Amino acid sequence: MTEAAATANDARTPAATANARDLFSKFDPLIAEREALLATGVRDPFAIVMDEVKSPTQAVIKGKDTILLGTYNYMGMTFDPDVVAAGKKALDEFGAGTTGSRVLNGTYQGHREVEDALRDFYGMAGAMVFSTGYQANLGTISTLAGKGDYVILDADSHASIYDGCFLGDADIVRFRHNSVEDLDKRLGRLPADALKLVVLEGVYSMLGDIAPLPAMVAAIRKHPNCMILVDEAHGMGFFGPNGRGVYEEQGVEADVDFIVGTFSKSVGTVGGFCVSNHPKFEVLRLVCRPYVFTASLPPSVVATAATSIRKLMHAGEKRAHLWKNSKRLHQGLTDLGFTLGTQTPQSAIIAVILNDQAQAVAMWQALLELGLYVNMARPPATPAGTFLLRCSLCADHSDEQVEQIIAMFAAAGKATGATP
Ligand code: PMP
Repeated sequence: MTEAAATANDARTPAATANARDLFSKFDPLIAEREALLATGVRDPFAIVMDEVKSPTQAVIKGKDTILLGTYNYMGMTFDPDVVAAGKKALDEFGAGTTGSRVLNGTYQGHREVEDALRDFYGMAGAMVFSTGYQANLGTISTLAGKGDYVILDADSHASIYDGCFLGDADIVRFRHNSVEDLDKRLGRLPADALKLVVLEGVYSMLGDIAPLPAMVAAIRKHPNCMILVDEAHGMGFFGPNGRGVYEEQGVEADVDFIVGTFSKSVGTVGGFCVSNHPKFEVLRLVCRPYVFTASLPPSVVATAATSIRKLMHAGEKRAHLWKNSKRLHQGLTDLGFTLGTQTPQSAIIAVILNDQAQAVAMWQALLELGLYVNMARPPATPAGTFLLRCSLCADHSDEQVEQIIAMFAAAGKATGATP
């Protein structure tokens, strides 16, 4: 540590020195809970460092070769040679960053190209790229639905969807997770002339279950003045004949107004987007604050994204292998006696439900020591107070790796008492 860093670490802010209570005091229970957990000698599940990343499925963590099973890198595009080459070329030709907003100096030809790639991928007329998927939801929802409007959303919606509602100041109406009946009932209670945005997700990332979109669309269409937005963050690349998402697989393409997605999962880089056929879609570029008041993505990122998206249009073999992997792991973990988020494999996310925090952390650490990285998830991010180990498969996991993963779960389950 440098001398300056050491001094900085010892320093206390004036408030911390002077007051027993300050704006951090509300976090005291969380700090105490974390300290108690770490005092038991476990590794911190939220402070993992990848020292080296060898491929979409392998990294070195604390000197140990580790299989990655918690990255959402569904299609393994992070190391695709064409994708990497496109990024290097753009870095050389256009520099490291744009240093500007999309509406000022931050739109390069690469930003246009990635929006063209999205239009082709989705077969839609309008495409807007944001700096992250979080900002895509934040921007789209808050700009579309303002004061006096309603956003109707699934109770298990992603944080970025909730935050979009708060930023826009719309009234939020939540319905029970994936319940068509509850959605219908709650829409029925709203004023007929009010404008409404219904936000759904193709795949729900905590349990890996998918939405019954045709039934939901049918219920929504019974009510006036509703637009439909589907977040396909976890469906893009994998679902549907063209990899567009669950809405394509379930045949409701003509019924949705907006698709929101991310580059941080199947596309293999970072960024977010919204696509739509609405004739006035382009006006959002002028009024959407999370689009206007932030810097655009670096040229290397948009070049990698455009290349990846175009390759994902022809990734049928990868999709088939990812399904095979997902089904095999689901079966393997079921056979071992684990409780999973879904009874049948519905997506490339397989959630292992554990009894409590202690058991989840013990399993997570046992797996890491065996050489397997999975995501740990806990309330409030998870539904109904559950502690989960979330596994997300990659099309690049080999059959052999999937068998190794199952064997590691068997060993960790025995060692921790999580399985019979
Ligand atoms: N929507 C959903 C459903 C997500 O799961 C996520 C990220 N986990 C996002 C949006 C945000 O995507 P990004 O990582 O690009 O910010």
